[in-house]
Amino acid sequence: MDVGKQELNRLVDQLAPEIGRIATLIGRNPELGHQERYAAELLTGFLAEQGFKVEKGIGGLATAFQAQHSAEAAAPKVGLLAEYDALPGVGHGCGHNLIAAASIGAAVALSRLKDLPGTVMVLGTPAEETSGAKVTLAEQGFFTELDAALMFHPGSQNVTEITTLALDAVEFIFHGKAAHAASAAQYGINALDAVINFFVGINALKKQLPDDARINGIITEGGITPNIVPERAVARLYIRSARRRELDDLRERVISCAQGAAAMLGGQVTWRKFELSYDEMCSNRPLADAFTKNLRLMGINKVIALQAAMGSVDMGNVSRVVPAIHPYLTLGDGMTIPHTREFAEAALSEDGNRLAVIAAKALAFTALDVLSDRKLLQKMKREFAGIY
Ligand SMILES: [Zn+2]
Repeated sequence: MDVGKQELNRLVDQLAPEIGRIATLIGRNPELGHQERYAAELLTGFLAEQGFKVEKGIGGLATAFQAQHSAEAAAPKVGLLAEYDALPGVGHGCGHNLIAAASIGAAVALSRLKDLPGTVMVLGTPAEETSGAKVTLAEQGFFTELDAALMFHPGSQNVTEITTLALDAVEFIFHGKAAHAASAAQYGINALDAVINFFVGINALKKQLPDDARINGIITEGGITPNIVPERAVARLYIRSARRRELDDLRERVISCAQGAAAMLGGQVTWRKFELSYDEMCSNRPLADAFTKNLRLMGINKVIALQAAMGSVDMGNVSRVVPAIHPYLTLGDGMTIPHTREFAEAALSEDGNRLAVIAAKALAFTALDVLSDRKLLQKMKREFAGIY
């Protein structure tokens, strides 16, 4: 371990009680997306105390923030991303309290280095579980001036490079015509039948799709009472694919199914996106490799290099703007399933606090690599330019 990393290692160890305190306080006070007022206050308060220049409510999002260490903003610039939203009913069942604690721990440790060769920025990104703030912040250019964006996520194993699916959330509204269902059905157009035809069409379409495409849907409205032909029926779909450009094509095919299903009965269909669209995660390989090397430096050798995840994360949108990683590190014995009460308990335990400290070190070491190793920076930029 070189001198800089030895110093960082000591600094994170000194910060361990603070990292544990932040993880525990956020863990004990779970807040849903865009309502994370307690967490945002706690984190920005601590960062301001540590000399960071804090800006709250960025991008028009009340619980988003950014905090920059050096006022003169020397290049290069590294961003550490903090999530802090919880899930309904299961609290911090995704362990975002640990993500916040680790990123803040890493940023403060870096800011205390004697010679920090660049700028460290913390970005507070709310509502990962619903309408991810990273999508809005990426659209508004909050990541463009960064040279790298880093975060970690607690999980069941150590994986440094992940791919996730691009996601569109589309609502389809079928418009028919009401009539007495028993005595005058010939005058009606049944919107519920249209939506059922739509799902039959989708099931047929699925047989023609590659393995990494996903279409999952529910019917949210299907009429009011059995003796009126339903004049309105609504379905909500999550459509996913490995790449944004493939998803754009798949979404059009799903729309064709909806139009066919409506036309079949003489009805009509309209559609709209009901949540923000996520892009696929493109982990920057040189950056992911640097993170793996740093885990090994810390004696963590059981690391999977690449894994395809079938979910979607808003970090995907960040990874299209700037070299980014979203590695997973093992929480506890790795046997707990995410989005459960058990996972929330593990994220609020001594194991959780220990993991946040380990993650803070790995993030801080990797951030230092980005700031001090010109060759790595070049490799990251070359790889990034080749992605799209
Ligand atoms: Zn999560």
